[in-house]
Amino acid sequence: MRIGMPHMGNIFIPFKAMFQRLGVDYIMPPVNNQRTLSLGVKHSPEGLCIPFKLTLGNLIEAAELGADTLLMIGGYGICRLGYYAKVQEQILHDLGYDVEMIQLGVSERKFFGLLKMIKRLSNNAPWTKIVPAIRFGLAKSNALDRIERVVQKVRAVEQVKGTANRLLAKAVKAIDQADDYNTLNKVRMDYIDQINQINKDGQTQPLIVGITGEIYVLLEPFSNLDVESELGKLGVETRRTLFLSEWTKFSFFLNSLGLNEKARIHKAALPYLKRDVGGDGWESVGEKVLYAKEYDGLIHLAPFTCMPEIIAQNIMPATKENIPVLTILCDEQMAKPGMLTRLEAFVDLMEWKRRAQKNH
Ligand code: SF4
Repeated sequence: MRIGMPHMGNIFIPFKAMFQRLGVDYIMPPVNNQRTLSLGVKHSPEGLCIPFKLTLGNLIEAAELGADTLLMIGGYGICRLGYYAKVQEQILHDLGYDVEMIQLGVSERKFFGLLKMIKRLSNNAPWTKIVPAIRFGLAKSNALDRIERVVQKVRAVEQVKGTANRLLAKAVKAIDQADDYNTLNKVRMDYIDQINQINKDGQTQPLIVGITGEIYVLLEPFSNLDVESELGKLGVETRRTLFLSEWTKFSFFLNSLGLNEKARIHKAALPYLKRDVGGDGWESVGEKVLYAKEYDGLIHLAPFTCMPEIIAQNIMPATKENIPVLTILCDEQMAKPGMLTRLEAFVDLMEWKRRAQKNH
């Protein structure tokens, strides 16, 4: 069995670590690039969202490299994600790839479903091997997110733009290569140290912008044209509402224990939206309400044609919690110059608002 799976930010790092420890043959498609997008767009129905198209491109590339078993996130929620794995499997078969698709349910069996799937993929490895392998993967995911949080702060105030991003790229590589907990901890501490020591503009009080929206476009920089780095270049600190390690912890572990982490966010959204609308639409509304006082503005990332985020986008201007929101629709037609112009205008607006509040 040769396993492949699509990219979503750095998700391949914890999965690769786990599979390596379980002796599973894991094939990683190339990181998202123009070819991935072209492949996905060419073989997808036109109206589908960018997560479908990019993940399809990844799956084709993994199959080209010899993967015969493909993992794809799925679920039984309201959004179209529930049938993506099936449709993608059909497309791959039509293209002549003899692959089996395994759906990783995120909305039903949670942690126990994940365990069962890993047991099967690892050829019935003992639990004494599976549990430590998962733990090591999670430790890598944690380390990545902790470094990224520091980078989000430093990008906004670094004197030489791009320095934090260069260190982040090196840190990601070093974490991927770390083979034991000692090395992993050392890499994490070393890079956090180095990033904190970058020369900064001490006078600046950067604007703070929350990044909310649909999970895939939040976590996959290729799909959002690396909006966080672009904001960093404009001197803006970003606070993404979702990190992979937290999402895993809440979606798979705490939920299985009956602890619903999203309750606070849903409660905040209740005056405006009373039910789940699929995907992350309910959360996007709740996050706007919750963070209105904390942030200077909110960037709402939504895949073009994503029904849950269209609902959220239409509700956001009507909330009494007042914070500027810029919705960016992500699809294969999106181009950087257009996005940068909108970001610059949004930053001007937030600066003006901050000045106006100070003079009040
Ligand atoms: S939430 Fe939206 S973008 Fe994500 S899979 Fe569903 S429809 Fe597509």
